[in-house]
This record gives sequence, structure tokens and C-alpha cells, in this order.
Amino acid sequence: MGALLISGGRVVDPASGLDGVADVMIQDGRIAAVGTDLGGAERVIDATGLVVAPGFIDLHAHGQSIPADRMQAFDGITTTLDLEAGVMPVASWYRRQAEQGRILNYGAATNWAFARIGAMVGTNEESSLEAFGRAMRDRRWMDNVATDAETADIVARIKQGLNEGGIGIGILNAYAPGAGVQELLEVCKLAAAENVPTYTHVAYMARIDPKSAAEAYIRLIGYAAATGAHMHICHFNSSSKTDIARCYELVRNAQLKGLNITVEAYPYGTGSTVVSAAFFSDPDFENRNGLGYDSVQRVTDGYRFRDREDLLAAQAEDPSQLVLWHVLDIDKNERHRELLDMAVLYPDGAIASDAMPWSNPDGSAYYGDAWPLPADVTSHPRSAGCFTRFIRHWVRERQTVSLMEGIRKCSLIPAQILEKSTPAMLGKGRLTVGADADVLVFDYETLSDKADFNNMNRASEGVKHLVVSGTPVIADGVMDVDARPGKPVRRPSVAG
Ligand SMILES: [Zn+2]
Repeated sequence: MGALLISGGRVVDPASGLDGVADVMIQDGRIAAVGTDLGGAERVIDATGLVVAPGFIDLHAHGQSIPADRMQAFDGITTTLDLEAGVMPVASWYRRQAEQGRILNYGAATNWAFARIGAMVGTNEESSLEAFGRAMRDRRWMDNVATDAETADIVARIKQGLNEGGIGIGILNAYAPGAGVQELLEVCKLAAAENVPTYTHVAYMARIDPKSAAEAYIRLIGYAAATGAHMHICHFNSSSKTDIARCYELVRNAQLKGLNITVEAYPYGTGSTVVSAAFFSDPDFENRNGLGYDSVQRVTDGYRFRDREDLLAAQAEDPSQLVLWHVLDIDKNERHRELLDMAVLYPDGAIASDAMPWSNPDGSAYYGDAWPLPADVTSHPRSAGCFTRFIRHWVRERQTVSLMEGIRKCSLIPAQILEKSTPAMLGKGRLTVGADADVLVFDYETLSDKADFNNMNRASEGVKHLVVSGTPVIADGVMDVDARPGKPVRRPSVAG
């Protein structure tokens, strides 16, 4: 492969601290040199007036498909990982991605919820959104404490997934809030023994005790302290909701005492999940969350639910139907804006999108190859514009952090969260010599998310070039629809 030179851009690299005009030479999928007078190359990208940064790394992306990759490419992302949910079985998932080809680098954790479904219900479907919804028709795995035998089976299934290359353990605890502390201690002990992180959607998210978000974080802090496991908190914003200030203090103090806890957040006041999620079935939902049922809105047609019966009927009809959950009113409520800031600007916290799959109008998943995406597919704006929204609003417009720090939260910090357990991440999130050539070139003045809740499938603007594993996938703002350079990010010492 010939050399590729990205010339004359403003190189911003949090790993080296470089912020200045320089050239970046790429050879054989790696950064070969950064500096001036690097000589000629077969291909040259003129980056004059543009920012050159390490490609963004998304720790939390459920799309994992060609259409999801393309939308995320325009959000500046070069590596997209499903860690909160994860997959099961792990080996066949990686095999399928390699066979179909991916645009972005990809990877997944091993899926605790599906280990639970297998061990406690006996169905052994491959993990998917549809299978997840179907599994919610039998609530034993959601509501029950596992027996000792079931716990042993759950741990064995997770261990199998780690052996097959899963890069940690995804713990969707809020979807199985009946899981007991004894089981989760065993899961976290496994994580510590295998030196992999867990990625947790905490057990509870209500604003009041018992079973409040604060109680759930106290448990998570306890797992970190008692087992030594690295506990990564997924979407700190939407798990903490209006109680972000209290939860921030809890988690921050635990970190400052030396516990191995990391945090990610996304810059929206609205979450998204399946309609059958356990937290919607809480009989005291309105009081415990301080929100009406109309805070829950179907993705495909924008319908807002009226009451509990209405929502339960939708759960029975199509349990994997995607919904939005409006939890912070950042358009009208100043305090809610401050709370979202605390989550998004969390010290050393990563930006992570929680990008959702794309859906057809009938609610089925869209995995097609059309580009641009069909006009009628839906998801959540974060699936298209999470990182560009953060850079546009928090960095450029409000200057809450420097451009260097903003890029660090999108690239180097997520790489560092993973690099102790997945050494391949030592080569990502950086523009240093020898690093993987995952490079983002963007126009800082015009970089902007375009997706909103009425137009979820609008790609972001301002990403001019995107190089994944040394291969351009966006050139002069245009997607190369044939490019499939994405490589797996996987646990080492694993074959297959
Ligand atoms: Zn989640």
C-alpha cells in the first residue's frame, strides 16, 4: 500500500500534546511520521485550514452494522464498540462482522444479560435487539435471584465469551434488576481475575429510595472495592437523570479514594431503549422517576404513551419496539442543563454515544446498504451526531473545555479506559508514530450535528476526511460506499 500524506492541517493530539500545523504520514495502516518536510507520497490529503485529530472511539454503540457505521463515520468515529450490552456468543459475532465487512473498527464485550437468559430461561438465541425483546416475555431472568447453580452457569457462559475474544463484560443490570449482589460479586470477581472491565447500566435509576440511582451506584462502588474489578459506568447522564449532582459526588469520591471506576456520558437529555425495559414496568413509575408516561415516546412514529395500561399493551404487542425517554428538559430547564453539563464534563470521563440501531417504519431493524439512509428510518439523534454535538456545543460554542481536552474526551480517554485489558487500544486514540492510522480531518468552524428528534437520520457536517486503519472512508466530505477497512478490536491470545 502506498503512503498517504495528510498535509498542512492543525494537528491536535492529546497523547503528545501537539497542537500545531504539521503533516501526518501514513504507511501500511500506521502513523509513520508527524512533522514537516516528510517527503512525497502516492496520495495527499490537503488539510490546510482543517483540524487533524485521532479518530473518535465510541465505547457504547449498539448499531454495529453498515448503516450505523456510515452515520457514525460522519460523527468522526473510527472505532465503534458495543460494551454495555455486548454480544453472545462472541466468536460467531466477530466471525460474522469479518465476513460481511465493516467500515469502522468494531468490537464487543460478552453479554451478561444473555448469559442470564440462557442460564435461567434456557433459551440460547444469539443476542440481538429482537431476541432481547422476545426474552422479556418470560420475566424470570429479569426478576429472579439466580440460584447457586444458575450463578455458576452464568459465570461459565461469560467466561466462555471472554475466551472467545470479548473485551470485557457488559452488565445490563437495569434490565434484570432482580439479580442479586451475590451473583454480581461472582461476575465482578471473574472480571478482576481475567483483568477485563465491566460496563454497567446500573441496576436502578429512580430519584427516590429504595432502589434509587444512588443505591445502584453504592452497589457498583462496593463491587469495585470488594473485588478490585474495573467498573465502567455507562451513560452516567441517563442513569442518574435528575439526581446527577448526588450521584456525581458519590462516584467522584469513590474514584478519589483510588477505586477503579470510569465514567462515560452522552450530550442529550433524552434516552432510548426497548419498550419492555424493566424500569418502565415499575408500578410506581411516575412517582419514582418524577416523570409522566408521556415522557416515553415511540421512536418510529413519535407516539407518546398515555398511562401504564397503554405502555404495558405496547410491551405485550412488540417488546423490542424502540422508545425515547425524555428525562432532562434541556431546552427549557436551566437546572437540567447544569446537570447534563456535570455528566458530559465529568473529569476524565469519556464521551460515548449509546448509538441505537436504525429501524424501519414497522419497527424492524434496518441493515440495508442504501446511502444516504432511507428517509423513513429512525433511531436517536445520538446515533448520528453525538460527538459532533459535543464538539460543536460544549467546545466551540460555549468553550467549556479546550479543543485539545474535547478531543481527548472523544479519543484518548476511551482508549485509555480499555488499554490495560486490551493492548490493541494502546495504538488507538493517538497520532503518535506507530499508532493505528485512524484519523479524523474536520472543519472546526462548521463541524455540527444535524440530527434532531424530528430528523434523526441527518448525518453530521464538517467531517471532511476520515481514515480507518489507513484507508480513507470519507474523502472531501463524501462517503466511499465500497470501503470496508474496519478491523476487529478483540481480546488478545484468542484464536478464531
Ligand atoms: Zn443502557
